[in-house]
Amino acid sequence: MIPFLSLKDVTSLHGEEIQEAVARVVSGGWYLQGSENEKFEEDYSRFIGSKYTVGCANGLDALILIFRAYIEMGVMAPGDEVIVPANTFVATILAITENGLVPVMVEPRMDTLEIDDSLIEAAISSRTKAICIVHLYGRNAYTEKIGPLCRKYGLKLVEDNAQAHGCIALDGRRTGSLGDAAGHSFYPGKNLGALGDGGAVTTNDPSLAEAVRSLANYGSSKKYVFKYCGRNSRLDEIQAAVLDVKLSHLDDDNLRRKEIAAFYYDNISNPAISLPVRLAGENNVYHIFPILASRRDELQKYLKDNGIGTVIHYPIPPHKQECYKQWNGLSYPVTEYIADHELSLPISPSMTLEEAAEVVKRINAFE
Ligand SMILES: *Cc1c(COP(=O)(O)O)cnc(C)c1O
Repeated sequence: MIPFLSLKDVTSLHGEEIQEAVARVVSGGWYLQGSENEKFEEDYSRFIGSKYTVGCANGLDALILIFRAYIEMGVMAPGDEVIVPANTFVATILAITENGLVPVMVEPRMDTLEIDDSLIEAAISSRTKAICIVHLYGRNAYTEKIGPLCRKYGLKLVEDNAQAHGCIALDGRRTGSLGDAAGHSFYPGKNLGALGDGGAVTTNDPSLAEAVRSLANYGSSKKYVFKYCGRNSRLDEIQAAVLDVKLSHLDDDNLRRKEIAAFYYDNISNPAISLPVRLAGENNVYHIFPILASRRDELQKYLKDNGIGTVIHYPIPPHKQECYKQWNGLSYPVTEYIADHELSLPISPSMTLEEAAEVVKRINAFE
């Protein structure tokens, strides 16, 4: 039996250190906004390569807080447009609509599955204020075209780095440090996962960091003084302590994912299956290993019958969701093709190469 992902096994990889960190916080008696958050924020900033990290409750909040802060700062206003890939997890879009901003969805490329940079410029209007790229599946989505486009039109570049902790972009910098701000999720299944919910915003902009921090703390940066109508979105001390342990192993854990992925790339040879283009090793941390299969649902059932767990990321694209009825009639054929053909194979730092070999054997035997 090879599960899609065993969180129990992933946690066990660093089990003792994690138990110690949790015990330290429990017995320390300080559970919010303390030294564990401070340390994690400092370490995460250094890791990502940005000046500031602000911990918050989850990845969706991280993205919501970025756009809300830009609105409070007068950089954006409700009704403004944000360019975003049509092929993403719905949370990216929710963060935009939650703030009264308008997502302008752009197709991904069929070979990379990431936003098609050749289609971005045509989507820019006089109301466009930002481009939000998503490093989906752990793959770097930044290209040399995107930075110059932002400068040419005066747009903010926001990164959704929920799936790509540790990923290195084209110029050697890590995703999450490439634009003006980035939202990170520490949902348990992510490459850097907590034992519950968690998230963070990274940025080099001190005013943005300050606004996000106070918006996440009821709108206050001074106790009982409220500048904004904020919310409560904090990272708790236990999660910060756990994340700091896992951060110290993240590059190694990602290396294991890369080994599994290399094995898949080198050995999957079933003509009914195609793989996205293989990025140079460092530009992908393989949060998910997506394949495209013509008879996807049959393949998924066959693998399940053979004891192999898979997941579809994602079966219904955001523009086809009931919550976005107003866009249900729009047509994004590449995105829709991916939704109908994508299947994610097991991959995780706790998976063995023997297990990967078993997955390959079964896939290649599928007719
Ligand atoms: C997981 C995820 C989010 C949301 O993060 P949560 O911590 O679950 O709120 C946002 N965007 C993408 C691309 C994600 O994968």
